[in-house]
Amino acid sequence: MSKPTVVQCPQCKKDVVWSEDSPFRPFCSKQCQMIDFGEWADEENTIPGAPDMSDSDGWSEDNY
Ligand SMILES: [Zn+2]
Repeated sequence: MSKPTVVQCPQCKKDVVWSEDSPFRPFCSKQCQMIDFGEWADEENTIPGAPDMSDSDGWSEDNY
């Protein structure tokens, strides 16, 4: 038998066995997977959200 493939969790660098036992691979756990997912989801959200916020901010400050 060959040795199981082991990868490192991109979040916490823990060893993760690449097998059916690790449904969140390459992450060690759902938590690490969600952290990674949340990071890119945040970036997606700031693109349409940020200009909108600064626009209304500048508008109200101009009004003062
Ligand atoms: Zn992890």
